[in-house]
Amino acid sequence: MAFESLTDKFQNIFSTLKKKGKLSEQDVKLALREVKLALLEADVNFKVVKKFVKDIRERAIGHEVMESLTPGQQVIKIVNEELVKLMGEEKSDLTFSKESPTVYMMVGLQGAGKTTTTAKLAGNLKKSGKKPLLVACDVYRPAAIKQLQVVGGQIDVPVFTMGDKNKPVDIAKAAIESAGKNGNNVVIIDTAGRLHIDEDMMGELIEIKENINPQEILLVVDAMTGQDAVNVAENFNDKIGIDGVILTKLDGDTRGGSALSVRAVTNKPIKFACIGEKLTDIEVFHPERMASRILG
Ligand code: GDP
Repeated sequence: MAFESLTDKFQNIFSTLKKKGKLSEQDVKLALREVKLALLEADVNFKVVKKFVKDIRERAIGHEVMESLTPGQQVIKIVNEELVKLMGEEKSDLTFSKESPTVYMMVGLQGAGKTTTTAKLAGNLKKSGKKPLLVACDVYRPAAIKQLQVVGGQIDVPVFTMGDKNKPVDIAKAAIESAGKNGNNVVIIDTAGRLHIDEDMMGELIEIKENINPQEILLVVDAMTGQDAVNVAENFNDKIGIDGVILTKLDGDTRGGSALSVRAVTNKPIKFACIGEKLTDIEVFHPERMASRILG
């Protein structure tokens, strides 16, 4: 399960704090040093950790906390609030365009879980009454087209493909036209992933973006890869501009770093969390619930 080690550490730190009656400035400082180490070990971005601890210190070392009857509890409350803030405060819903169809573009590195997540998202939207169309724009790997057809079939959502002989941007345009004709009010484009970020891939994504002007570009990143996931997000955001992040594999034993840093580093919200391989294993990302889970 994700965050186990981080949760254990937080619980240790907090139980020491709770045992003390009054807290000295030194007690708080020591506890925050432990918090800092725990977050760094969880692979949270260094700058993010530094600011996080500084913000807590400023709030915790003050009259209100030190002189309260339960200073330990107060510090825990502050840590909780700052964790929620770090992950974006409120959940961030998908937006829909005024004109149908709403187009979402899925981007990400190969293996991150993009194709699976595309289907998960379509399944969710279908459940809420939308009529999605999936679009296979990864023309470099025939297996990717097949995979999208398979997962589309599992959720009973149509998949638009033109094989691997056309340009992705032309496939996307044709798909949107077809959606209009067939009453599909959401189009989700599965773009090609590469093993690493490369200029050709970014160029192709920019071309699709400029030609179809998607409502949202959603970046799928693998939470297991920790800070790498955050670097990928920063890179995609700088080059093509993203609207939100979907974190996958939060069911694995991820240490938590990406969930805690990606928002602060990119200033883009985490919209969904994926928690398993099944096509129903997707949930809206709630910063508050995630903070509670991390704190245990
Ligand atoms: P893509 O190359 O980015 O399109 O990645 P895929 O969708 O093919 O997924 C790569 C692998 O990750 C597959 O084996 C998926 O079943 C798996 N996967 C995707 N999302 C999750 C998740 O949330 N949890 C787990 N445990 N596995 C996932």
